[in-house]
This record gives sequence, structure tokens and C-alpha cells, in this order.
Amino acid sequence: MVDAFSLEGLVKRFGDVLAVDDVSVRAAPGEVVALLGPNGAGKSTTIDMLLGLTRPDAGRVRVAGRSPAEAMDRGVVGAMAQNGTLLRDATVAELVGLFASLHRNSLPVREVLNRAGVTEYANRRCGKLSGGEQQRVRFALALVGDPELLVLDEPTAAMDVDGRRRFWASMREYTETGRTVLFATHYLAEAEDYADRVVLMRHGRIVADGPVGQVRAAVAGRALRAVVPGAT
Ligand code: ADP
Ligand code: MG
Repeated sequence: MVDAFSLEGLVKRFGDVLAVDDVSVRAAPGEVVALLGPNGAGKSTTIDMLLGLTRPDAGRVRVAGRSPAEAMDRGVVGAMAQNGTLLRDATVAELVGLFASLHRNSLPVREVLNRAGVTEYANRRCGKLSGGEQQRVRFALALVGDPELLVLDEPTAAMDVDGRRRFWASMREYTETGRTVLFATHYLAEAEDYADRVVLMRHGRIVADGPVGQVRAAVAGRALRAVVPGAT
């Protein structure tokens, strides 16, 4: 079986900062993997290399057996950026429609809106939405091409409690269809509740990788308690 993605020995420096230091991760199709770690751990840099947005100094990336660029081009990957501006004057439905028109194979707009749970504000302008609502619109944009692999960098960062609950409900529906997900988070609870597997990063390196319960035990141990703020 071809891995949904594989990262082999990735290294990335920014000047004197070794942002990612020999990171290797692979995921089987259908796995939901959390990339857990505090700010500055190297999660976003790792994700950007997976997506082909940042070129590694060393190492290799494969997405469904292809280069990141090929995988993107074929619509294998859906990505949700940590930040990024939405078209302020477009309505949610218009923006999703625009993205759909750019994809070779896209889901019907109505279905994307439903899957992302944004139907109720489909006719509002993106610039008028709250940060959490905008984040769910970014999630909708990631779903447009019905991707096999969804890559989400801190998807709930701007969301309130209710937004988080709704976002993860939408995600559950999505993962039940057997898709692969990699999401970055600095919340241990999100990793525990929604991932099959947790990859724990610190200072650019992977310090634990395994089933949720196993990594929880590692975090609970004194040595790793400092790794994830709020972990008790
Ligand atoms: P995380 O997403 O886990 O918070 P990042 O991958 O964003 O971590 O950052 C890892 C390290 O690399 C940090 O020290 C950060 O300051 C640094 N870094 C990330 N991107 C850049 C960049 N474009 N230029 C310089 N330093 C960067
Ligand atoms: Mg980040």
C-alpha cells in the first residue's frame, strides 16, 4: 500500500535557526495524525515542506507516492493555512464557487458548504465574518477538491468553544469517509480527542510518535511535561 504521505529526514534552516531537524513521519491512508508541539516547535515548517511551499534543505517528501507539486496539481491534497486573507467582498458561497472553478474535479458548492458547516452564513461577505467563522471558510476551501489528504495547520486557532465543537464535528464526518488527515495543534486535548496517532515535536525534532494513549503517557511523564503547555 502506498503511504498517504511520507517525510524522510527533513531538515530546514532559517539562518541560524534549525527549524526542522531530521524529521521523518509517514501515514497510512485513513490515518488521522496530530502534529503536536508548542509554538516554534517546527510544525508549520514541516507542513509547508509537505505541501511543497517550502523547499527542504535535506530529505524527501512523497504524497501518495508523488512529489508535493504533482500531488497538489492532481488535487490529492487539501490544505488549510494557519493564516491567509480571504476575499473580503466575496460571499462565502461565491468564494467557494471561485475555488471550485479552479479545480479539475470539485464537489458541488452546496455540498462543500454543508460538509464544512458554513451553510448558515453562505450569503454573508467574508470580510464581515468573525475570525472563527473565517477559519471554517478556510476549511471549506480545503474541501473543495474532495482531497484524499487534508493538511490543517492549527485549524481551530481563531475559534471559540462553539466554533471548535462544530469544526471537529465536521471533521469527524470527513474522516469517517476514510480520508487521511494531518493537523498541527498545540492543544494536547485536540490531539487526544481527534487523532489516531500523535507525533510530538519539540525544537524541530520528533520526540514521540505513536498511538494517542502512548504519547499521553509520555507527556504526563515529568521529562516531557514542559513540552506541551497545559498538559497535566
Ligand atoms: P510552529 O509552527 O511549531 O510554531 P514554525 O515551523 O513556525 O513552528 O517555526 C519553527 C522555527 O523556525 C521557529 O523558531 C521560527 O521562528 C522559525 N521560522 C519559521 N519560519 C521562519 C522564516 N520564514 N524565517 C525565519 N525563521 C522562521
Ligand atoms: Mg505554526
